[in-house]
Amino acid sequence: MTNNEIRSKFLEFFESKNHHIVPSAPMVVKNDPTLMFTNAGMNQFKDIFLGNAEASYPRVSDAQKCLRVSGKHNDLEEVGHDTYHHTMFEMLGNWSFGDYFKREAIAYAWEFLTEVMHIDKNNLYVTVFGGDEIDGLPMDSEAYNFWKEHVDESRILKGSKKDNFWEMGDQGPCGPCSEIHIDIRNEADKKLIPGSELVNKDNPLVIEIWNLVFMQFNRLANGTLEPLKSKHIDTGMGFERLCMVMQGKQSNYDTDIFQPLIQEIAAKAGIAYGQREDADVAMRVIADHLRAVSFSIADGQLPSNAKAGYVIRRILRRAVRYGYTFLGFKQPFINELVDTLVNQMGNQYTELKKQHELIRRIILEEEQSFLKTLANGISRFEDYVGSHAGSKTIDGAFAFELFDTYGFPVDLTQLMASEKGWNVDMEGFQKGLEQQKERSRAAAQVENDDWVELTDVSTSAQQEFVGYDTMQCEVHITRYRHVKVKDKEFFQLVFDRTPFYGESGGQVGDQGTLTHPAGDVVTVVNTKKENNLIVHIVNKLPEHLNDPYNAEVDKCRRFAIECNHSATHLLHKALRSVLGEHVEQKGSSVDEQRLRFDFSHFAKLSHDEIREVEKQVNIAIRRALPLEEHRAMPIAEARKLGAMALFGEKYGEFVRVVKIGDSVEFCGGTHTSNTGHIGSFRIVSEGAVAAGMRRIEAVTGAAAEKFNDALQDQLDTLREMCKNPKDIVAAVQRLQDENAALRSQIDQFQKQQIDALRRSLAEQLQQNPVIVRRTSDDLGQLKDAMLALRTQFPDMAIVLGSTFGDKPSLLVALGQNRVDAGKNAGTIVRTAGKEMQGGGGGQPGYATAGGKNIEGLDKAIAVAAEMI
Ligand code: ATP
Ligand code: MG
Repeated sequence: MTNNEIRSKFLEFFESKNHHIVPSAPMVVKNDPTLMFTNAGMNQFKDIFLGNAEASYPRVSDAQKCLRVSGKHNDLEEVGHDTYHHTMFEMLGNWSFGDYFKREAIAYAWEFLTEVMHIDKNNLYVTVFGGDEIDGLPMDSEAYNFWKEHVDESRILKGSKKDNFWEMGDQGPCGPCSEIHIDIRNEADKKLIPGSELVNKDNPLVIEIWNLVFMQFNRLANGTLEPLKSKHIDTGMGFERLCMVMQGKQSNYDTDIFQPLIQEIAAKAGIAYGQREDADVAMRVIADHLRAVSFSIADGQLPSNAKAGYVIRRILRRAVRYGYTFLGFKQPFINELVDTLVNQMGNQYTELKKQHELIRRIILEEEQSFLKTLANGISRFEDYVGSHAGSKTIDGAFAFELFDTYGFPVDLTQLMASEKGWNVDMEGFQKGLEQQKERSRAAAQVENDDWVELTDVSTSAQQEFVGYDTMQCEVHITRYRHVKVKDKEFFQLVFDRTPFYGESGGQVGDQGTLTHPAGDVVTVVNTKKENNLIVHIVNKLPEHLNDPYNAEVDKCRRFAIECNHSATHLLHKALRSVLGEHVEQKGSSVDEQRLRFDFSHFAKLSHDEIREVEKQVNIAIRRALPLEEHRAMPIAEARKLGAMALFGEKYGEFVRVVKIGDSVEFCGGTHTSNTGHIGSFRIVSEGAVAAGMRRIEAVTGAAAEKFNDALQDQLDTLREMCKNPKDIVAAVQRLQDENAALRSQIDQFQKQQIDALRRSLAEQLQQNPVIVRRTSDDLGQLKDAMLALRTQFPDMAIVLGSTFGDKPSLLVALGQNRVDAGKNAGTIVRTAGKEMQGGGGGQPGYATAGGKNIEGLDKAIAVAAEMI
C-alpha cells in the first residue's frame, strides 16, 4: 500500500464507524498564548475538552499535521539520529466527545490494525496506566479488562505515569492512556529477547504506534486533578510509523514518504544512502526538516528572529549545518528539494502547491544568509585557535559565543576542535547555556492562577460576542483569574456575553470600561482570545463580582480600528488587481493608528503601482459601499462566493464572510458599516520583509489627513524658503545648480589662495628660513603646499596659527635638515597645543593641532617658536 492509500484506509474505516472526517488544522497555531505549533491531533479540539465550545459532531477523525520542536513535546534532538521521530509528522486520530469511551476506542483500534491493516497480533503489545501515588490514581483496570477481550494477558503491560498518562501541557485536560506497540524485529532476535521486555525501552524496532487517551481530568495550576464534566476519547497514531510497518521497512525513512527526498539528497551529495552513518543521519535530518520548514511557511510562519519564527529558523539552520558538515554542501541546496516535496504531498496539502515558489525562495534566502554566518563562525574559530596556540582547549565561553551568535551547536565545535586535536571546555559551555536559559525564563515568566468559576460552567460555556451589533451591554462575570507576568499583576475576566472584540485575525483587542450602578468603574485595558474564550484584561478586580456590570467599548478607538480593517480588505483586493492574483495575504495587523499588510510578491512596487493601488482603494471608499456580512455561512457556500481563504487560519464548519464591494473574505473581525466612513487612504511605506514578501503600511481617515497635512506643511515651508516661486521643483533644481557652480568657484578660489600663500611663503623663506605668523586660512588645506616647500627649503621652519572657523589651530612644518638635527613637528604641536586646550600630531616634518581656546593661540605659537 502506498502512503496515500494507508491514509485513506484509516479515514474510511472511521467514517464507517460514523465518524465525521475533518480537515487538518493548521500546523502553525495563531491566537493561542499557550501553544506555538500543533503538537497533537487533539489541539484543534482543545476548546471542546475544556468545555469552552460545543462539539459539532460527537465523533470525528482526521489526519493532522503536527510539529514537535518546542515546549512539552520536543523531539528535535532525536530527529535524524533515530529512525522514527520526526519534527513534522502526520498524526491519524479519532475522537469521541462525550460519546463512546474506553471499550469502543480499544475495539476500533484493534479492529483497524488487525483486520484492516492485517498486522500480525503476535507482533503487538498494549500498555495500560499502572496508577500513580502522587496523583492518588489507581491502575486503569477498566482499560485492562477491555483489552483482555482482544489480547492475551501476557501482552498487556502496565506502565508508569511517564508513559501512560497523557498531558497536553502543564495545565489542562489530561488522562490515562493505553499505547499500542509493535515489534518489527526479525524472527531470530524475537526468539532471543521477548518483545514485551523491550516495550518503552527506546528500541527502534519495538516502538509505539498508537496512543489511546482517555480524557477524564483537568490538571489545575497547583498540580491537582479535577474530573472533567464529560469524558472524551482522543487517539493519535503516527502515520509515518504505520507506513513503515505496512511497507515492511525498519525505518520511517525507508518508506515511500521519505525515499524520494532521501534519494535526491544522496544524488546531489554524490554519496549513497546507507553507506556512512554520519551521512545517513544528515540526509534524514535534511529530509525531515525540509518538510517542517515548508509546511510552516505554507501556514504563514516564516523564519524570523523571534518566537515561532525563530524556532523555524533554527530547524532550517540545523539542516543546513548537517548538509555542510557531513555532506559537503557549501552552497544552498535545500530549496532545490521543494519541488519533490510539493510533488509528493501537494495533493493532500494543497497549501504547499499554491505557495511552492514562495517556499522555495524563502528557504533559498535563509540558506544563503546562514551559510555566510557559518563561514564567519568558522573563520572566528580559526582565529581563536590561531591566537590560543598551545592551549589545546576551546574556552567554554567561546564555544557558547559560537553557539549563540553563529548558530554552532556544541557538537560541531567539538568536531572542529577534535579535527585539530583540541577539546572543548564543556562545563564552561553548559554554564553559558544555563545562564541564557535562566535569562529567558525570567523574561517570559507568566503565572496563571486557576479560573474561579462564578456561575455554572455549563451555562457559561457558550459565551456570546455581541460586538458586531453593539458597543455596550449588560454583562455577568462568569469566571476570573489572577495573572502575573514578570511581577506585573492583573486580572482576567470572562463574561456571559460581551461587546469587546478579543485580539485575533490581526485586529487588536478592544478597550473600554465596566461600570457598576453603585459607582465601581473598572478599566478594560485589553481584550484577548484564549481557547475560544474572550478574555478581558483589567488592573483591578471588580468589587461586585456577582452583580451585572455595564460593559462599554471605547467607541472612537473601535471606529478607527474598523475603518483600518475594512481598508485592509480593500487594499488586498486592489493589490490583486494591480499586481496579479499571485498576491496572497501573509499577515496583517490593524489598530487604531494604522494598518499593516504583508503579502507575497516578488518585486518592489513602483511609484506608479503604489499610486494605482491607492487610487483603487480611494475609489471604493468614495463609492460608499455598504458592508455585507454573513455571520454563519457553510464553508462550501462561502467558497462559491469567491471568498479568499487564508491558509493558516482555523475555520469551523460555518464561517463568517465579509463582503465589501468586490472583496469577499473569510473574516471574524469587525468592520465599518460603509466604506464611506474610511474617508481616505494613504500608503505611508512599502518594503521587503523577506524573500518574496512585501509589507505595506497605510493610514486612513483622520490619520491620513494628518499625514497629508504634514506633507503639505513641509511643502509650504519649502515654498516660503524659496520665496514662493511658481514652480517649486524648478526652483529647487535652480538652487542645486547654483550651489554646484558656486562650489566649483570656491574650490578654484581656494586653490588660487593657497597657491598665493605658498608663493609668498617661498619668497619670505628666501630671506629668512624661519616664519612664525598668524593667518585666517584653513590650515587643513595647506598640507600639499607645505610638503612642496619642505623639499625646496631643507632648512625651513614654519609655524602658522589660524583662527579659521572660529577655532584655534596650529601648523608646524620643518625642513629635512631640522628633522635630521632631532626636531620633531609632532612633538612640538602636541606640547604647544596644550596652550589652546587642544592636541594633535603628525610626522616629524609636518604636524597640525586643533584646540578649543582661541585666547591661547598666541601663546601656543610662541611655545612652538621657542621649541624650534
Ligand atoms: P514516543 O514515546 O515514541 O516519542 P509519544 O509518547 O511522544 O511517542 P504520543 O504523544 O502519544 O507519542 O503521540 C501519538 C503517536 O504519534 C505516537 O504513538 C507515535 O506513533 C506518533 N509520534 C509521536 N511523536 C512522534 C514524532 N516525533 N514523529 C513521528 N511520530 C510521532
Ligand atoms: Mg515523544
